[in-house]
Amino acid sequence: MHYDLHSHSTESDGSLSPTALVRAAKLAGVQVLALTDHDTTEGLWEAREEATRSGLELILGVEISVTWGRSTVHILGLDINPDYAPLQVGLGQLREYRNRRAEQIDQSLAKAGIHGALAGAQQFASGGCISRTHFAQYLVQQGYAKDVRTVFQRYLVNNKPGHVSGHWSNLEDAVAWICGAGGVAVIAHPARYRLSLTKLRQLVTEFQGYGGRGIEVVSSSHTVSENRSMGELAFRHQLLASCGSDFHGPEHHWAQLGRIPPLPSTCKPVWEEWQR
Ligand code: AMP
Ligand code: MN
Ligand code: MN
Ligand code: MN
Repeated sequence: MHYDLHSHSTESDGSLSPTALVRAAKLAGVQVLALTDHDTTEGLWEAREEATRSGLELILGVEISVTWGRSTVHILGLDINPDYAPLQVGLGQLREYRNRRAEQIDQSLAKAGIHGALAGAQQFASGGCISRTHFAQYLVQQGYAKDVRTVFQRYLVNNKPGHVSGHWSNLEDAVAWICGAGGVAVIAHPARYRLSLTKLRQLVTEFQGYGGRGIEVVSSSHTVSENRSMGELAFRHQLLASCGSDFHGPEHHWAQLGRIPPLPSTCKPVWEEWQR
């Protein structure tokens, strides 16, 4: 089976609707897809209908924003029951926080002479949950930089004019919402946080203490050698291994649906839990 367990739709910062995403995954040869939008499960119903039509297995997922110490980390919930009330309450609070943070980003960009960024970002979010990606798209449209990556570098990260430090959920709550919803909690793209190995192992130990069981060993945002070292980390800590493209749209050529290398052979895949 060909698995891709990390993807986004227009309900968060992806550029394809849930329907278009599932169709694109099918065309790319993905047999099992997880839709994991940031802090929302809104797209899952539409995606599920299209998955039934196209004969693709959809794993119901979410990617939760977490503040851990001074870092923002992302925790995937895979195979969740989206109706679990505490999960929805928590995600609702995160989306409210996203809206408040968007106003703060707007104010800090205004101080740097860029006006109307919130309204512009909202147009790109088109009703879905607002993200820094939408601010970046607006700034590109307005000619402040040539692409989204450059906007991030110049405006939206630490020590830059449009940066606002995040205050997301805590790790314990995020893992509890996912486990309560019957899902498996998975640390997303672990090599992207630029944590030392000691810090990363501390994150893993704390995460496992709360009931977290998985780690995304293979990700488009990792290098080949990072995939390998995350495989070793998974083995060492007896974590279930996941793999995902973190697809946000066909225009992000470095993260295409299903275009991910296989898991290292020492890993126990997270889907071995899902024999239905
Ligand atoms: P947010 O959750 O609103 O803070 O936005 C985070 C999202 O922005 C991530 O999920 C990525 O899709 C995107 N992102 C973060 N850093 C970068 C970057 N350096 N270049 C392009 N996109 C980025
Ligand atoms: Mn994103
Ligand atoms: Mn992420
Ligand atoms: Mn993601």
